Amino acid sequence: MALLQIAEPGMSAAPHQHRLAIGIDLGTTNSLVATVRSGMSTVLHDEQGHALLPSVVHYRPDGEVSVGYPAQAQQSLDPNNTIVSAKRFMGRGLKDIGITTHLPYRFVDAPGMVQLETRAGIKSPVEISAEILRTLKARAEKALGGELTGAVITVPAYFDDAQRQATKDAARLAGLTVLRLLNEPTAAAVAYGLDNASEGVYVIYDLGGGTFDISILRLSRGVFEVLATNGDSALGGDDFDQRIYCWILEQARLAPLSAADTRLLLTKAREAKEWLTDHAEARITSLLGSGDVIDLTLDSTTLSVLTRQLIAKTLSPTRKALRDAGLEVSDIKGVVMVGGATRMPQVRQAVAEFFGQAPLTNLDPDKVVALGAAIQANMLAGNRSDDDLLLLDVIPLSLGLETMGGLAERIIPRNATIPVARAQDFTTYKDGQTAMSIHVVQGERELVSDCRSLARFELRGIPPMAAGAARIRVTFQVDADGLLSVTAREQGSGVEANIVVKPSYGLDEDQITEMLRASFGSAEQDKQARALREVQVDAQRLIEAISAALQKDGATLLTPQQQHQIETAVATLHRLSQGEDADAIKAASDALNHATEAFAALRMDASVKQALAGQHLNTLEL
Ligand code: ADP
Ligand code: MG
Repeated sequence: MALLQIAEPGMSAAPHQHRLAIGIDLGTTNSLVATVRSGMSTVLHDEQGHALLPSVVHYRPDGEVSVGYPAQAQQSLDPNNTIVSAKRFMGRGLKDIGITTHLPYRFVDAPGMVQLETRAGIKSPVEISAEILRTLKARAEKALGGELTGAVITVPAYFDDAQRQATKDAARLAGLTVLRLLNEPTAAAVAYGLDNASEGVYVIYDLGGGTFDISILRLSRGVFEVLATNGDSALGGDDFDQRIYCWILEQARLAPLSAADTRLLLTKAREAKEWLTDHAEARITSLLGSGDVIDLTLDSTTLSVLTRQLIAKTLSPTRKALRDAGLEVSDIKGVVMVGGATRMPQVRQAVAEFFGQAPLTNLDPDKVVALGAAIQANMLAGNRSDDDLLLLDVIPLSLGLETMGGLAERIIPRNATIPVARAQDFTTYKDGQTAMSIHVVQGERELVSDCRSLARFELRGIPPMAAGAARIRVTFQVDADGLLSVTAREQGSGVEANIVVKPSYGLDEDQITEMLRASFGSAEQDKQARALREVQVDAQRLIEAISAALQKDGATLLTPQQQHQIETAVATLHRLSQGEDADAIKAASDALNHATEAFAALRMDASVKQALAGQHLNTLEL
């Protein structure tokens, strides 16, 4: 019997094409790829059934590159050409990394980012990470059987612009379209569906292989805000292995070991530690290169003693993060466990005791980040139903509008979390102005010509008023989907006009980076340009006002000589205002103001006389 597809209630009968999107956790120790299939976020496995891909890249003597478990196996045999933890070097210079003598790599100090010398040539951390991403991409394409629309890649919340950019570059190098970078703690929270949970503050406790990160997130209206981050970049599961390794040496009374034997025993230590997560005892057996035979039993009580101090060490950054966020333990609504090392019952117990509540552990802690990234990727690729959750995002570049003189006025600053709404009041420039042209722009520069134009619309039907008398409130609103709508409303009459724009669409990351770079480099230049435009606008306004007055009253109130004098001053200002010399324009404006003082007084008198004409003094309300 053939199976018929039945649409779920609320789902359209003709389902649109499902776009293939993946979430990638690019970890220091292990990386993973996940996708949403049949509405469920699932981690994709390799052909041997492994979910985790060790973040290890081996440049082999035969010129090939291997990634993952086979590369990890070469770590002690070919340490110079087997790169682990490349994530630590992303977007970092040699100085940032600090002492590197304990690492087996040949570092090359390069501007911007450190590089590593391997047998395959000098490699940047971006290229090394790209190998890992390429492997995950191939795994996903194989599993999903189609071309990928894009990927969400996670990064630690504390990653700065350089580190984020390096991650994006690595993805591009691997041939992936980055839908978005997502903070690891946010991804974990999404995996637990906390974005659909009630508002509150959540803690993400992430103990990985070599790093500890604590993040405090506040959820409000479906948006996560990072309140504080802290951690220890040299504390993780590896340190637990180290403690067990030392215990083995002590128990077996071994002399100092060769590098290969050390590696071997560290691996044994890690296996024992992982085994003890679900068992009471672990047997450690090994035949070393030195000829020594190891046969020991480690029980979980001993492991607790060996690791107590290390676990306690995670609590001090935790306290600091709480203090930075101005919070008490009792303010925390939930604690999410992330990272393979949080599988250890000892860690779970310590965290439960500290927060006075059982942490969330029902999702695999080493998969949770990838699962959340996949959910986000699925949404961004457009595979979502209407009632789906909100997008978690910030505005990548400021949004604003054009004011007189081609200047950009920022309304919503860059990095504001969405949804967001901001309003600002503007006024008319000319007497009797009945329409206003509104030009919506995005960018960090002062001049509209350097920003990106998003939309234009007009507000018509403004009642005629003197220049500067109308009050037009322009409201920018960006909803959770990143959709911008702009409304302009004249407050007195209530006339209104609006437009809907999609700000982030079409602005690709390159453009964003380029625009940011340009704005950092040109702040001073922009300031000067803004000052020039401002005096030009003032001059233009003055010329228009005085020309209108001359036309109306010049002949009746002034001698031809006085008229000529003012006209000359107007002409001078007009000529100078076409140029670039702000000081000269300012001086000419002042001169024109000065030259017209007497004329202004005469006009004032004349209009007062006109108002009084035909009225008796006693009817005047003074
Ligand atoms: P990272 O985020 O740094 O890439 P992971 O989250 O994958 O790392 O965590 C790796 C660490 O988790 C390793 O130290 C590993 O030994 C540890 N780990 C994995 N599984 C277990 C387990 N069952 N019990 C204890 N530790 C584990
Ligand atoms: Mg991790």
